[in-house]
Amino acid sequence: MTEAQVETKQFQAETRKVLDIVINSLYTERDIFVRELISNAADALEKYRHLSLVEKPEFDAHVPLEISIDCDDKKHTLTITDTGIGMTKEELETNLGTIAHSGSGHFLEELAEAAKKDVNLIGQFGVGFYSAFMAAKTVRVQTRSWDGSEGYEWESDGGGTYSIKPCEGLHRGTKIIIELKDDAHEYGTKFTLERIITQYSTFVPFPVKVEGKTVNTVQAIWTRSKSEITEEEYTEFYKFIGNAVDEPLYKLHFSADAPLAINTLLYVPQENFETLGMGRMQPGVNLYCQKVLIDQHSENILPEWLRFLKGVIDSEDLPLNISRQSLQDNALVMKLRRVITKRFIKFLAEEAGKDSEKYLQFWKTFGIFIKEGVTSDFEFQKDLGKLLRFESSAAEAGQMISLDEYVDRMKEGQDEIYYINGPSRTAIEYGPYVEMFKKREVEILYTLEPIDDFVLNHLGEYDGKKLVSADRADLRLPEVKTDADMESAEEQGEKLEAAQIEELCSFLKEVLGDRVKEVKSSDRLVDSPAMIVNVDGYMTSSMERIMQAQGGEGNLAMAGKKDLEINPASPLMKKIVGLKETKADFARDIAEQVFDNAMIQAGLLVDSQQMVSRSYRILEQIAGDE
Ligand code: ADP
Ligand code: MG
Repeated sequence: MTEAQVETKQFQAETRKVLDIVINSLYTERDIFVRELISNAADALEKYRHLSLVEKPEFDAHVPLEISIDCDDKKHTLTITDTGIGMTKEELETNLGTIAHSGSGHFLEELAEAAKKDVNLIGQFGVGFYSAFMAAKTVRVQTRSWDGSEGYEWESDGGGTYSIKPCEGLHRGTKIIIELKDDAHEYGTKFTLERIITQYSTFVPFPVKVEGKTVNTVQAIWTRSKSEITEEEYTEFYKFIGNAVDEPLYKLHFSADAPLAINTLLYVPQENFETLGMGRMQPGVNLYCQKVLIDQHSENILPEWLRFLKGVIDSEDLPLNISRQSLQDNALVMKLRRVITKRFIKFLAEEAGKDSEKYLQFWKTFGIFIKEGVTSDFEFQKDLGKLLRFESSAAEAGQMISLDEYVDRMKEGQDEIYYINGPSRTAIEYGPYVEMFKKREVEILYTLEPIDDFVLNHLGEYDGKKLVSADRADLRLPEVKTDADMESAEEQGEKLEAAQIEELCSFLKEVLGDRVKEVKSSDRLVDSPAMIVNVDGYMTSSMERIMQAQGGEGNLAMAGKKDLEINPASPLMKKIVGLKETKADFARDIAEQVFDNAMIQAGLLVDSQQMVSRSYRILEQIAGDE
């Protein structure tokens, strides 16, 4: 070979940074680099196995699918060889010179952050190959593509550059030769390698040979019968398939023969990686057909909102030679997806029944995905209703109840399910909206997340009962007369007369102008003088809050129409009736302030500057009167 055939190239800038992070900050759990390289080898073998069914390649077709690991304790080298698809020269340059994720802006910051927190997160980032440099002085990659084109050798010391040159005499697949750093010589011993493989790579679906001896038992655990599998094996498999270190929170293993032949093993992890600042998760479930991997991290086999699941779905009914592209609109895939999703929802509902505390742990971590499902996935929306959990006026703080529990407790004559959103339980309980619920002893759900109103709005009804936000204008509670009801009616004393009420309402409407659609007398209020209610059936105050937050002030035009409902028994309201004749300006300020207070209790924005100057005017007036 001539010198001219050796090309030296720069790593892409992002790759250099990744290398830097990998080499400098990931010292602790170095073992994982072995796992990463074995998993790459296994991926390459899976790809070849699938491809050989679709394309029937001829080159090196007889070479068995396996991974060989060899080490030299004297020269301090480690070699990992696979007979997978291999790489062409172009593939070498893109796969081992650039980073696929670099397009997503925060990738590097997130990686650096994750590396500090937990080294196991790097697997999730797909920097797998580069982890070799944790232990390597130099890495050589000799590879030849399945298409039989010329073989190449890639080499780098993890600095700024790598070189590529032709390499003769290679079989199909990839050989990675690592020259170990002085403080990493242990990876050149059989003992250490066997230890790491039993720990991390037992479930690699191809023989893994160390110095010629197979060290794993190749088996597709999901095709075995449940009774034969131990909990340890289930957990080990979860760690393998999910690149995880923890134990799964839930596991569902089920098989069916009809209407579809399915073997499925699904896991719910302990952690929600999206809330750990890692951005949007990739799906974690692989699609197999008769133990052959068809689609890794499949986008199609489960709905998007189930992307937190890890595991395997295997169906013999799928054609083995199906291409990845055609999965998207394949009728059978859609049918599988429906059956499995329904089964998983049923599983969660059963688990919730068996152990509600554990389910609550699930709900706190992954409830957001269930909510996403309700708002985005029409197909399963109705089924998901039974998985929702909320705080409630009838439950203690911190406890959560299901819609089923609510329905079971509904009063006679009540045919709607009520909820109200607020920033906290206390804010809700001191606000005006729950007063009449308390009075009538009607249960009301507290939705503490802003997104909850979108969720319930999308759901529309549950068990044939409409879901209704308590800040709606047209709210009608069942006529349930309790003793408390009678008493408080007496306590409140005289209401204003009908004519006075009408006069007061038109005065307030005149003061508030377009900010409200109408000012009306309310029979819902007990202690509060007034409250904001929403006229547009679909819009609740919390939804408006989200839209304001997204669109800023300019979005106020999108605000829903509101009414101000006033309490004709409130002493303050009675006072305004008199004041508007004697001290008109003072009465106007009070009216404005009542409106702003009601807006704040609805969680909506007010002009704080105006409000402060107004309240000083009011205070001065009162101080002057004393
Ligand atoms: P990931 O495995 O998440 O894609 P890696 O950094 O581990 O990321 O590997 C980068 C890419 O390099 C892989 O996607 C694959 O295309 C290629 N690659 C790595 N190892 C091998 C191998 N043994 N055989 C074939 N291709 C490989
Ligand atoms: Mg990898």
